[in-house]
Amino acid sequence: MNKTELYRNAGISEDVFRYGEACLKELEERFRTIDERAEYNQIKVLSAFQSAHVSEACLSGTTGYGYNDIGRDTLEEVYARTFHTEAALVRPLIACGTHALAIALFGNLRPGDEALSITGRPYDTLEEVIGIRPARGSLREYGVTYREVDLKADGSFDLEGIRAAISDKTALVMIQRSKGYASRRTLSVSQIREAIRAVKEVRADLICMVDNCYGEFVETEEPSDAGADLIVGSLIKNPGGGLAPSGGYICGRKECVENASFRMTCPGLGSEIGPSLTLNRSFYQGFFMAPVVTAAALKGAIFAAALYERLGYEVLPDSREERHDIIQAITLGSPEAVTAFCRGIQSGAPVDSFVTPEAWDMPGYDDPVIMAAGAFVMGSSIELSADGPLRPPYNVYFQGGLTWPSAKFGILRSLQSMLDAGIISPDRLSADLKSTCNRTAITVE
Ligand SMILES: *Cc1c(COP(=O)(O)O)cnc(C)c1O
Repeated sequence: MNKTELYRNAGISEDVFRYGEACLKELEERFRTIDERAEYNQIKVLSAFQSAHVSEACLSGTTGYGYNDIGRDTLEEVYARTFHTEAALVRPLIACGTHALAIALFGNLRPGDEALSITGRPYDTLEEVIGIRPARGSLREYGVTYREVDLKADGSFDLEGIRAAISDKTALVMIQRSKGYASRRTLSVSQIREAIRAVKEVRADLICMVDNCYGEFVETEEPSDAGADLIVGSLIKNPGGGLAPSGGYICGRKECVENASFRMTCPGLGSEIGPSLTLNRSFYQGFFMAPVVTAAALKGAIFAAALYERLGYEVLPDSREERHDIIQAITLGSPEAVTAFCRGIQSGAPVDSFVTPEAWDMPGYDDPVIMAAGAFVMGSSIELSADGPLRPPYNVYFQGGLTWPSAKFGILRSLQSMLDAGIISPDRLSADLKSTCNRTAITVE
């Protein structure tokens, strides 16, 4: 069986397959750069394993209080060494990224303090943590106030606005690296460096906390290399490498991480307790795999951008620009298109490929959200997944893919699904294909 037949048997028409191959031709150079970055990050992680003396004993876990959990403590040292921080918390006790961010905020803010977001409105689920939307137990209920400074129209930091917003009350500055569910650009580590420098020039004692979700290992530096006091993320995204079944991390300055630890467990106990149970092996192995898994996800994102921008959809980022996270936003323009796209992604998954996703009211989100995720780990978005809140302009956010070939397959499936639903006409595809073939003279075996 040749490749075209293989794909046809797997539900991808010849036109869709050929269309994908034509797009790929133009991405070779980009993919090489991604592989080089993955190599750099892989050696960075491997060196951290070696200098922290990861041993076989680290791979098993503890129960009960988890005192003297060598696997847990060494894993935290591996994270700290990789991200160049004084300390780290990497725990299954941390339920998700939002929880990690909430712990970092509650642990480092006191009544009367103000948190200042300098990347505008934060990720949806944080609105309730902060109390932007009224919620029981929010920071606001504990007397912590909140302010935000929007990014400028071009997506860069409003340094003047930031300087002006810092007051005596300001205690912590929040920076969200990734766009989340917003139509803006993801920030680069070098932009974050510049913003942190501006903040520290006003008040050197301010804690700069970066929501690093989806950003890990995309560049060769992390925000912790750029002056951040805290970086926070989820293990069912990049750093879990697809193998961590749950968990979150908080890395940064010792005092800030300790403050967070007293919120993670309780005052007095901090990071001393919390068993790793049976999870150490998958946490280590996932972190070890994370650089190449992130690279696979990046290739998928760029491929999706290339595919859909040629069909005239607005994509962010586009297929040529520099990447700072693994998220690909595509503006599909209608709820039907978002639904067809997500159903295609779902049908390309290794698990639950036969189910049909529907939009639902997810806890923590304001609008109904449709999600496609046929994942080994429930809700994991380092695995091939797509989600979109059903609100104009009907963006779909695509991310993940544990391996590049499976990411490619899922994206081709999304296109097939859009065709089958009548959202994209077959003529449109073949016309574009004809002009492409003339241009690059591709051959398909
Ligand atoms: C995923 C994410 C979070 C946390 O989400 P969880 O679903 O709670 O893990 C926070 N901020 C950003 C930018 C994210 O992408």
